[in-house]
Amino acid sequence: MEVPVLLQNIFQYIDKNEQVYIQCLTEAVKIPSVSGIPNYREDVFRMVYWMEEKLKVLGVITEVCDIGTQVISTTENNSTKIALAPVLLGQLGNDPKKKTILVYGHLDVQPAAKEDGWDTEPFKLIQKNGKLYGRGASDDKGPCIAWLNAVEAYQKLNHEIPVNIKFIFEGMEECGSVGLEGFLKKRSDFLESVNCVCISDARWLGTKTPCLIYGLRGTCYFSIEIECASKDLHSGTFGGSVFEAMSDLVFLLDSLVDSSGKILVPDILEDVLPTTCEELKTYENIDFCVKEFKKAVGCEQLLHEDKIKILTNTWRYPSLSIHGIEGAFSDHGSKTVIPKKVIGKFSIRIVPNQDPEKIAKLVIDYLDKKWKTRKSPNNYKTSLTFSSKPWLSSVSHYNYTAAIKATEFAYNRKPDMIRIGGSIPVTLTFQEIMDKNVLVLPIGAGDDNAHSQNEKINIANLIQGTKLLAAYIFEISCVKEH
Ligand code: MN
Ligand code: MN
Repeated sequence: MEVPVLLQNIFQYIDKNEQVYIQCLTEAVKIPSVSGIPNYREDVFRMVYWMEEKLKVLGVITEVCDIGTQVISTTENNSTKIALAPVLLGQLGNDPKKKTILVYGHLDVQPAAKEDGWDTEPFKLIQKNGKLYGRGASDDKGPCIAWLNAVEAYQKLNHEIPVNIKFIFEGMEECGSVGLEGFLKKRSDFLESVNCVCISDARWLGTKTPCLIYGLRGTCYFSIEIECASKDLHSGTFGGSVFEAMSDLVFLLDSLVDSSGKILVPDILEDVLPTTCEELKTYENIDFCVKEFKKAVGCEQLLHEDKIKILTNTWRYPSLSIHGIEGAFSDHGSKTVIPKKVIGKFSIRIVPNQDPEKIAKLVIDYLDKKWKTRKSPNNYKTSLTFSSKPWLSSVSHYNYTAAIKATEFAYNRKPDMIRIGGSIPVTLTFQEIMDKNVLVLPIGAGDDNAHSQNEKINIANLIQGTKLLAAYIFEISCVKEH
């Protein structure tokens, strides 16, 4: 595919500036902007201001927005309020003749410490074998910096930025984007005039093939509470006389899913969109290796051995997982206790067009019925703890066709069109508040160890990813329709 001359120049510039980009990422990784640990909150603030400075250099009009406070417990009985990390808004260009894209990224990171098993200091970017190791390198500081690089490349070569860009960088993403949705609803003025959204907070499916993400599963998380006594009991003294809460709970949990992974709640699949031949065809060419997947799981046998079945069952069908039992004895050794109260936790990953409320009702009604057949006198309650909707984007939208073409320019190949089984809640937030097409455009590779030890981004992904974003805005600007 012939790369337009303008992009060829920009790509050359990007290749030449590798060291500058690595230096920039080094600065960013050095700030331990861990949002989940209150002691690091100042660093998240510092990271937001660092980014603000970088944006200002590019001529972006910035605004650091206070989004309120958060209550955190200091000791068992005491709590205190601390400020949430602010949201950084930026606007570059305001030309009514151009399209306006909204770019989202997050500047906070997961906790990390050398003692967790990192080979190197997590907050010091280390270059080794074409990879840049450090917390946040891939999730999500590297991709945020790729946006800075892409814009700068246009400017340094005296090319007009072909679109207006609005930036939203938050600092609470790793804590569930606390405060973001409320803030965005209040600042709908900022979201006005946006034509489409690009989120680069995800990674490829594998390690070689670039991807675009067009679907995510949602979640319904449940708890089953059962209480049989006013205190924990000795099984020697009381065993044989008590309706035990734990036995009741195991009975209910066992009624949820069978050994083939089939969810046993009646009508649960009712609203699942049927697969089409066309859709299944797109799965065939996806770069996905069952053997590697098994290796990543660390098991010999999966529920499905076939690639398409694995992909469809993790992306576009619901799955039920049992997560744990609160109140149950779980330490080493053999404690002979009858727990007075246990809370079972499980969740269902839901898919288009399943509705969380409807699923919750089906599940709770089913368990209530099962409970009646148990004839236990214990206190029982199943409830929905939290839920999020599934998300499916329209891949025929110009936002996607632009990203496909940009991928061809940057990588000289078409991207795999994929879904993922997890959730990126902000995706739905944007889609719901603005009703504009949202694109999830990954920069990092599937083995980047986001959230894990030795997180990294490949230099090649940082460089080609920067080209990808530069080409993406170019392609968006070529779209005629509005
Ligand atoms: Mn992320
Ligand atoms: Mn993350």
